[in-house]
Amino acid sequence: MEKPEPMDPTGAGTGTREVVIGLEIHVQLLTASKMFCGCATEFGAPPNTLVCPVCLGLPGSLPVLNRRAVELGLRTAVALGCRVHPRSRFHRKNYYYPDLAKNYQISQYEYADHPPLATGGVLEIHVGGRPWRVAIRRVHLEEDTARLVHPAGTGGASSSLVDYNRSGVPLMEIVTEPDLRSPGEAREFLNALRRLLQFAEVSSCRMEEGTLRCDANLSLQPPGGPPGVRTEVKNMNSVRAVERALAFEAVRQREVLARGEAVVQETRHWDERRSVTFASRSKEEAEDYRYFPEPDLVPLDVDAAWVAAIRKALPELPAARRDRLIATFGLPAYDADLITATPAMANFFEETVALGPHPKVVANWLSGVVAAYLNEHAVEIDQIALTPARLSALLRLVDDGTVSGRTAKDILVEMITHDQEPEAVVEARGLQQISDEATLRVVVDKVIADHPGPAAEIRAGKVRALPFLVGQIMRATAGRANPEAANRLLRERLS
Ligand SMILES: [Zn+2]
Repeated sequence: MEKPEPMDPTGAGTGTREVVIGLEIHVQLLTASKMFCGCATEFGAPPNTLVCPVCLGLPGSLPVLNRRAVELGLRTAVALGCRVHPRSRFHRKNYYYPDLAKNYQISQYEYADHPPLATGGVLEIHVGGRPWRVAIRRVHLEEDTARLVHPAGTGGASSSLVDYNRSGVPLMEIVTEPDLRSPGEAREFLNALRRLLQFAEVSSCRMEEGTLRCDANLSLQPPGGPPGVRTEVKNMNSVRAVERALAFEAVRQREVLARGEAVVQETRHWDERRSVTFASRSKEEAEDYRYFPEPDLVPLDVDAAWVAAIRKALPELPAARRDRLIATFGLPAYDADLITATPAMANFFEETVALGPHPKVVANWLSGVVAAYLNEHAVEIDQIALTPARLSALLRLVDDGTVSGRTAKDILVEMITHDQEPEAVVEARGLQQISDEATLRVVVDKVIADHPGPAAEIRAGKVRALPFLVGQIMRATAGRANPEAANRLLRERLS
């Protein structure tokens, strides 16, 4: 596969070194309970209410592997085309940190004799309109750590609190090969991966709830030369933060090299407020962590029949869903892309179409007014008071001429804002379309009288002024006039 041009070569003009990026993505799995105990994983519970001896790491407590978490890991591995290892192992990743009660985290690593859940695989993204396959190095399972809370904010607090609700929450880590060559490609990859995980029903991928976090490493490679020294930016929780941090880091490294200095291998953090990365601590190597085989867990055996069953039950993935929408409903690719942005949107589309409205009309509404509302309010379609039944009812009112297409857009926003049926909004606000000729004729005559110039032009055969007068009629009726009837009456009056 030929390499497409990178979409946004950062720091152009500061040398010919190529940006090389690899990502590690931590995804919270959609399980009801934690990785090694029965405690609930719900978000937003009062601190330290979802804990037990296992996830607190108390002496004598024993972990028990969550089968559902393994299934979701396998589902991801299959969706990414990875090789699932028949026997994988868990390790203790030893380090000391206040959010880690046991002083080790149960995780998986990549050793020849102790493979992780799955390795290899690929995810296709689009770079400048052309496909580019990003290789996946591995998919492994691990537990999350606790959360530190600084009562007066970092820096201002004299004490820290620990919330162990997160401790032991099932995480899956997806590690890419260093196949990405610009911050924009990293963004494309994260969006494509999030879409895949949502359609596979593996994770909610709600970054604001911390269910998807990303570490990114970046180096600059001279043409034909060995890879440059890389830095790693840790724990970013939005796609935008990843893209901005990487752009900053690319420019920073180029400047370091331009000064004749060497890039230092280190871990850095992204400061959203100041829009800079800063060094935090020296980079730990795998040996610094001292991985030990976890003695309290037996090896994880996954037989071929289990993988086959997972593959068979895999939900329809975004690319297949998109192709099916195009084939079944004749949607343009642009609409199909937008409708398959999330599973909720794709389901909403299909459920609405099943109630009768024309697919292209539904697609127009979803990719137009509805998408604009969702963007503006930063919500998903399943978080607002709009249902397929309500949207199709509104489209019926447009179809049978009860309301005009223009008024319908306002009605839709009202429906969402006030959680109402379209008929109720029309009734309450008197938005019925005016198709009654006697009523319209009065308006038409007034508009003609108020605009003698354009009226004379039309009488002289210059119909270019017609849309202007129709616009005046719509304005006079607050958008309620039936545009077809208004057009026809105008022509009649001025012929
Ligand atoms: Zn527990």
